[in-house]
Amino acid sequence: MRDKGKILGFIDAKAGVFTGLSDRIWELAEVRFSLKGSADALCETLKNEGFTVERGAAGMAHAFTASFGSGSPVIGILGEYDALPGLSQVAGAAEKKDILPGGAGHGCGHHLLGAGSLAGAVGIKDYMKETGLPGKIIYFGCPAEEAGSGKAFMARAGLFTGIDGFVTWHPMTETGIWGVSSLANYQVYFGFTGVASHAAAAPEYGRSALDAAELMNVGVNYLREHVIQEARIHYAYTDVGGKAPNVVQPSAELLYYIRAPKTSQARGIFERIFDIAKGAALMTGTAMKMRWDSYCAEYLVNDALGKAMYANLLAVGANSYTQEERSFAQRFVDGLPESARQGIPGKVAKLFQNEKPERIAEIAGQSIIGDIMPYSMSGSVMPGSTDVGDASWHAPAVQLFTACFPAGTVAHSWQFVACGCSSMAHKGMLQAGKVIALTVLDMLENPSLLAEAKAEHIRRLAGETYQSPFPPELVPEE
Ligand SMILES: [Zn+2]
Repeated sequence: MRDKGKILGFIDAKAGVFTGLSDRIWELAEVRFSLKGSADALCETLKNEGFTVERGAAGMAHAFTASFGSGSPVIGILGEYDALPGLSQVAGAAEKKDILPGGAGHGCGHHLLGAGSLAGAVGIKDYMKETGLPGKIIYFGCPAEEAGSGKAFMARAGLFTGIDGFVTWHPMTETGIWGVSSLANYQVYFGFTGVASHAAAAPEYGRSALDAAELMNVGVNYLREHVIQEARIHYAYTDVGGKAPNVVQPSAELLYYIRAPKTSQARGIFERIFDIAKGAALMTGTAMKMRWDSYCAEYLVNDALGKAMYANLLAVGANSYTQEERSFAQRFVDGLPESARQGIPGKVAKLFQNEKPERIAEIAGQSIIGDIMPYSMSGSVMPGSTDVGDASWHAPAVQLFTACFPAGTVAHSWQFVACGCSSMAHKGMLQAGKVIALTVLDMLENPSLLAEAKAEHIRRLAGETYQSPFPPELVPEE
């Protein structure tokens, strides 16, 4: 007989372990694949909890799997723990204040994500241990979500094969079930090599790699008119070839993100951009070399699992907040630009569509929006990318988000970093951990739920299978 209350009790009993772990990862603020301290902290906790930990998953030193149980089904719980460069910020400070100038900070709440997913894994593990419930859970320690897409490398290594379902979450400013897809994203470098020469005395001997990079961008900017509306193409110069105008630049490099709602569309645009890069090299007499940074697939939603997770979110219930927590959050809301503050009611009206105008005004007037959003699995596409997409192509996946940050604040901001160790963030994290544990319980106990989710997953794949675009020799770049 299931006892969901018991699982919630298991998580509450160890709440201090989970919040301590989250705060520790926040302090470390490690980026991309260089996540030693954060992975150490997570692995140590999982080992202490009786999980079998295997470090170095898919050839990445700080990726890992932590398993408990045996047999089937096998449920994957995804955890992330990477920070963002340049977002160092003092905890709790309601104005921009670096701890370390130029340092990194947890601007997307992945410290909460990793620890909250772990809380869910521990909660269901404690229940399995006590009841002898069969099945296996695997916590995937996934590096480099922000840039580098650790899960795409895990997918290529076959780590997601044989999993029956994936569960995860993301810290946010509202609470609900993730019902949208994301953009597939090709992340590739185009490097040009030319010939250096005196730009005034002997320009005829020079072949400018910088010219090639600029002509490539011009070509791509013309291409924009001839791609689908939903595509997103952005670039950054990762090498401008030097600082001296009197030297013909012998090297230049661009990092391109090429995004579209479907992998096949992103691939098509990537192929055209690759041709443009070749053209730019031909025009300038330089050589072009493309190399991969990473890739992620679009996220496939799952309504069957979404509904199950929503029922669990309602069962766990909305968080309540103290006056002190609301005042803390209000300081951040007050500090937002006027336009951001004015945007809150419109966003709330969109998210809480069926509510009466008075109720929407009430929700939008709060500094913390803890109310649970109505269920929606629209499958529409959000203009961003996540490597959770790569997992979602292997098995039905479901995720929730919970209010961990003040209303109106946005991801990848110093405000998210500043609030990352607050009690409101901890509450959102523990709430997510509980919903994850209960949803995994449903998946372990209820074969018809997994069967329904899998049938839907096959429909959503529409005959396609996951194909890693990476060449076999590609290794993740720190
Ligand atoms: Zn994120």
